[in-house]
Amino acid sequence: MLDVQGLSVRFDGADGVFVAVNNISFAINKGEIVGIAGESGSGKSLTALSLAGVLPETARAEGLIQLAGRKLRPGYAKDWQNVRGRLTGIVFQEPLTCLNPVINVGTQVSEVLRIHKSMSEKDAVAETLRIFAKLGLHPPKLRMRQYPHQLSGGQRQRVMLAIALCCQPPLIIADEPTTALDVTVQAQILLNLRNYIHETQASLLLITHDLGVMAYMADRILIMYAGRVVEEANADELFRKPAHPYTQLLLQSVPRIDRPLKRPVSWLMTPAQPKAGCEFAPRCTYRRSICTQQAPASLRLSGTWSVRCHI
Ligand code: ADP
Ligand code: MG
Repeated sequence: MLDVQGLSVRFDGADGVFVAVNNISFAINKGEIVGIAGESGSGKSLTALSLAGVLPETARAEGLIQLAGRKLRPGYAKDWQNVRGRLTGIVFQEPLTCLNPVINVGTQVSEVLRIHKSMSEKDAVAETLRIFAKLGLHPPKLRMRQYPHQLSGGQRQRVMLAIALCCQPPLIIADEPTTALDVTVQAQILLNLRNYIHETQASLLLITHDLGVMAYMADRILIMYAGRVVEEANADELFRKPAHPYTQLLLQSVPRIDRPLKRPVSWLMTPAQPKAGCEFAPRCTYRRSICTQQAPASLRLSGTWSVRCHI
């Protein structure tokens, strides 16, 4: 369904080039939920923006994205015409920045249907009512007439979901979609999303730093560190036996009620990107001399599992 080959995103800065996403490759099958986890600044959102064709103008991107049989080059605006909305639906963390404050939310959804699906106004309104009911926006008639500021955070995020899903795109990209919401609302929205994927056999790229959400949702997981995918595995493999020292650190830092916190991850520490060797070496407790000299290649542990480490 989706195939990403050699995606890189760079920024030119005063002190040289900053590589925010460093040559990553992955694929998502039909009906599959792939998660990306990793600490803040690891390049997750830029990966999402690349796949949505909405990178910042100052970014320089490389790589090839194949989506539903179409070849798309990140950064080439022309390639992405007619892709957004039709082939990809996007859900971001903060719906207020994406919704228009002066148009009622029903119109914001039905307009997408009229434009992308060429529906009549009557059909688009009927379909919007159906989607609102399905996504738990009750009562749908009242909700459709409301403006974003009249809705709760959870309801706004459901409207975003309605906009992303209404044209039934084959790929959904969700970047921290429920991070700002309280846990019960978060669980309901994730369930909506998961049901949609199972019903329509669409593909979902789900970005979250919450490993609990990841365990609940993802079939396969990519762990990113400093712009690279350092481990990729099926969710059960990764949670049972994380191979990369960084993945181990991430899993250990999930608070557990039944045991003391072993080693909290130092979230605030952002080491400068080392010139040679493994990006994680400065923080790695298993570091050997080769780790600071030579960048590790991707090592295959099984058909579905790979790790970038001098294990
Ligand atoms: P994540 O979503 O994993 O927290 P991002 O993908 O947003 O990380 O960002 C990755 C890195 O790229 C960060 O260090 C961030 O500061 C940098 N970055 C993101 N957007 C820009 C931009 N427009 N200009 C320069 N640097 C950026
Ligand atoms: Mg982000």
